[in-house]
Amino acid sequence: MARIRILSRETIEHIAAGEVIERPASVVKELLENAIDAGADEISVEIGSTPEAYIRISDNGCGMEEDDLRLSVLSHTTSKIQSSNELASISTLGFRGEALSSIVSVSRTRISTRIDGASAGCFIRTEAGDIVETGAAAQPRGTIVEVNDLFFNTPARKKFLKTPATEQRKVIEVISTYALCYPGIRFSLKAKGRDILKLLPEKEHLARATAVLGSAFRKRLHLVHVKRAGISLRAIVASPDMARATRVYMYTFVNGRHVKDRVLTSAIMEGFRGHLVKKRYPCIVLFVDIDPSEVDVNVHPTKTQIRFRNPSAVFGMVASTIKKTLADYPWDRPRELNPQDEPTYSATEVSEPMVTYGMGKLHKTWPRQSRLTGVAGGFYSSKKVIGVLHSTYILLQDRDALYILDQHASHERVNYERLKTAISSGSPESQLLIEPVLIELGPDEYRVIEKIMPLVLRAGIELEPFGGTTIAVRAIPSMLSSADVNSIILDIINKVMDGTHDTVDHLDDIIATIACHRSITAGKKLDETQIIALLEDLDEVGSPRSCPHGRPLYKKIGIEEIERWLARRP
Ligand code: ADP
Ligand code: MG
Repeated sequence: MARIRILSRETIEHIAAGEVIERPASVVKELLENAIDAGADEISVEIGSTPEAYIRISDNGCGMEEDDLRLSVLSHTTSKIQSSNELASISTLGFRGEALSSIVSVSRTRISTRIDGASAGCFIRTEAGDIVETGAAAQPRGTIVEVNDLFFNTPARKKFLKTPATEQRKVIEVISTYALCYPGIRFSLKAKGRDILKLLPEKEHLARATAVLGSAFRKRLHLVHVKRAGISLRAIVASPDMARATRVYMYTFVNGRHVKDRVLTSAIMEGFRGHLVKKRYPCIVLFVDIDPSEVDVNVHPTKTQIRFRNPSAVFGMVASTIKKTLADYPWDRPRELNPQDEPTYSATEVSEPMVTYGMGKLHKTWPRQSRLTGVAGGFYSSKKVIGVLHSTYILLQDRDALYILDQHASHERVNYERLKTAISSGSPESQLLIEPVLIELGPDEYRVIEKIMPLVLRAGIELEPFGGTTIAVRAIPSMLSSADVNSIILDIINKVMDGTHDTVDHLDDIIATIACHRSITAGKKLDETQIIALLEDLDEVGSPRSCPHGRPLYKKIGIEEIERWLARRP
């Protein structure tokens, strides 16, 4: 590699400024990038039981000379560019000359390195950015960076870190992401001395993608490669049935760099349009290779945002390539789709409405028959049902007002309360499944569910490892049908991975997810008995006014207000 220089003030002013080290995973990202830029084909990462306490990355790249090592930890020092002109066509992952200096300034770090042909290596030790020790190091060619006590001198930033489990997950994510893009590099991760990831070098992207995403994806991935007008596009497209509830499996790379780019994500969604059910995101690994001068990477200090010079060309090519792939459907056999995302009313109860009630008819012929005598006078059941709007909103009236009640949210709340009560009074009623439901997961999904298994069990879902990254569902709460299980488990996992919950410490969130799946949807026609039952159920669980997610169950419109609308009142 070229020698390290200090960038000129003029160049520094052209570089997107800002803090990039937010958490252990950002340290890992920057150090991985350095190792890749150094030409390494073997990168090993180790983290402690709390990742911020200990991170070690070793590579077999080109290493640094002794003077360069001392320079590397200073601000704005880089071997990758010399002047601001080069910012217009960056071909390395790094170029800001800021990563090492940022990392060492908030930690206690030791860097040792050795170049080819040197009789020995060398090391420096730093504390809060100051070099406190230097010396010779015996080691093979390459570089080892050990970061201890990240943020020890910036407690405010340390406070923003999440649990060690979450921070570790983010480290895994970073390594998996780079691993997808660099199949020829051997990657490994150890945490607390245990092997977490071991990725052997592969000849091509598809093999690596299968290794990273897991055996569940083995026959569900298809590689397409198109080249046109200076853009080379390779996409590993998973069949639409592998879609997830979040964007975790949408990976986009431009010129070997992991990016988060609107143009690319919307092109992907456009390509998949019509192939995904609502609120599902595809699994895809997309590589765009384009002349470096066609893309600006100097937009944001983390270098994950970019700007295409000609975004519409890229958009069109990505969207049409995906569309064509989906039209060809190259995947062997369609898997059974995730159980529909529109859960229906119960299996045993009436599934189709026997009568559709018009407003007038309903009003006249609907005697209130209370199933549960005790609750007939409750908030909901004391009101008169006068109709149903668009098979979605139950219209109720009492002396002073009209109420528009959301049937899905109401049912969700009832299920949620019931399950919660059942859980707090011991264990919820479970039904053993005659045939366990098998769910194939990606490795990171598997790790998540493995961790929260005891919690999920408390909610009545009994899981068991089934070899590899497959999980077997043995028992489910009696309120669920086995058709819901697959998508509930995926939803729970995705909420954890998404960071919506730090871990699902919150049994509540699991219960809410289950309740939501088990609930009647908007648009489902309910018959007389079902509506009455719903109102009474609401009262039985304490006449709640909102759904488990906090949305209101109903809107009340006072008669006086209606009279004002119609100018009957001043
Ligand atoms: P940048 O990557 O933007 O140049 P960094 O602060 O990440 O800035 O690194 C500064 C310099 O240190 C790099 O330009 C490179 O010359 C050298 N360097 C850092 N890490 C390594 C490594 N693992 N192997 C060889 N050289 C390295
Ligand atoms: Mg760098």
